[in-house]
Amino acid sequence: MARRTQRGDGGAAAGEVWVYVEAEGGRAAEVSLELLGRARELASRLGATVGAVVSGAGVRELAGTLIAHGADTVYVADHPELADYLALPHARVVTEAVRRFLPQIVLYGATTTGRDLAPRVASALRTGLTADCTDLQVGDHTVKGIDYADLLYQIRPAFGGNIIATIVSPEHRPQMATVREGVFRLPEPDATRSGDVVDIAVRRVATTAVGGNGRPVATGGAVLLDDEDFAVELIGRVAQEKSVDLKGARVVVSGGVGVGSAAGFALLHDLAQTLGGVVGASRAAVDAGWIGHDHQVGQTGTTVRPKLYVAAGISGSVQHRAGMDQSARILAINTDPLAPIFAVAHYGIVGDLHEIVPRLINAYRTKGAPASAAAGDVSGVS
Ligand code: FAD
Repeated sequence: MARRTQRGDGGAAAGEVWVYVEAEGGRAAEVSLELLGRARELASRLGATVGAVVSGAGVRELAGTLIAHGADTVYVADHPELADYLALPHARVVTEAVRRFLPQIVLYGATTTGRDLAPRVASALRTGLTADCTDLQVGDHTVKGIDYADLLYQIRPAFGGNIIATIVSPEHRPQMATVREGVFRLPEPDATRSGDVVDIAVRRVATTAVGGNGRPVATGGAVLLDDEDFAVELIGRVAQEKSVDLKGARVVVSGGVGVGSAAGFALLHDLAQTLGGVVGASRAAVDAGWIGHDHQVGQTGTTVRPKLYVAAGISGSVQHRAGMDQSARILAINTDPLAPIFAVAHYGIVGDLHEIVPRLINAYRTKGAPASAAAGDVSGVS
C-alpha cells in the first residue's frame, strides 16, 4: 500500500521543545527543571532546541538557572501584574507566546498550577493535552495510511492501569503533556551553557482595545491583559508545608492494604526510623484514611527513587509501580507469592508483614546495619 509520509512535525524547523517553568519565591519549581532535562533529550532526538517559558514578576533572573538546566532560549514575561499565579492572565501570556514562537512541544508540571494552566492553553490553541504522563519519548506513527515521523509519545497508564497507553497528537500543534514531579531526574546544572533570553512584553490595558473576537489584541509586540483577565481577585494565600520528604529520602518504607489499619503504620514508622528513612503508602492505604496523601507513592502520588524501597502489604499495581520501580533496591513483603510487586522486587519475602517487619527491625537494631540498608543492602538480614 502506498503511504504518504508526513514529516514537518519533527526537526528544528518544526519548532522548539518548550517547558513552562513555574516560579515561586524567586526559584524555579523542581519539576520544571526536571522537565528541562527531559526536553533536552527529546530535542536532541528531534534535532531541535529547548525553550523555557516563564511568566511572573522578577522572573527574568531565573534565566541563568534555566539555561544551566538545559534551555537554549528563555522566553520571559516579567510584569508586576503576573506576580501571583492567576489562571487567566498567565494562560493568555503562554497562549500568545506559543502562537508567536510556534514550539512543537510544550511540557508542564502536573502541579496545581500546571493542571490549571495547561488545559486552558490547550483549549485556546485547539490542541491536545495528556495529563500525568509517566514517560515521554519520540517516535513514528502510522494512521490511515499516513506515516507521521517524530511525534511526541505521551505515555501513561490508562483504563484503571490495565494498559499503558501511548498517546500521540499527529495533526495538532503544539503537542502538550503534564508530568508529575520526580518522574524525570533532575539534570545536573551546567554553568558553562549559554543561551538567549527573549522578553515577551506585557501591557495592562482597559477593556476598550478589542480585536475581532472581542478580546484585546497583541499590538506592538506586547501581550495585552485587560480587566477580564483579572476577573478573579486573589484575596490571600495559605501555604501548607509537606509533612514528609519522600523524594529526597534514601530509604522509603511503604505500606498498603496489608498493613490493615492506621495503627498498623506505627510498625512501618519504626522500621523507617531504624533504617533512617521515611514512610510511604499505596493509594488504597491513603484512601482508607490510614495515612496522609503526602505519603502516597505512585502515578497520582510522588515518584521516588530511593536507595532502598520497602513495599509491605502492597500488591504492586501499575499505578503504584510507576512511582517506585526506579528505586535502586526493592524489598517486597507480601503474603501472596503471586503478587505483582515481586516482579519488580530485588528481594522478596513471602509472609505476614506483622511478623516479618518486627524481625527486620530487630535484626537491623541488633546488627546495627542502617548504613548498609540506606545503601540498598538488605542482604545482612535473615
Ligand atoms: P491491594 O491491591 O489490595 O493489595 C494489598 C496487598 O497486601 C495484597 O497483595 C495482599 O496479598 C497483601 N497483604 C494482605 N495482608 C498482608 C499481610 N498481613 N502481610 C503482607 N501482605 C499482605 N495506587 C497507588 O499506590 N499509587 C497511586 O499513585 C495510584 N494512582 C492511581 C491512579 C488511578 C487513575 C487509579 C485508577 C488507581 C490508582 N492507584 C494508585 C490505585 C491502584 O490501582 C491500586 O488500587 C492500589 O495501588 C492498591 O493498593 P494496595 O497494593 O495497598 O492494595
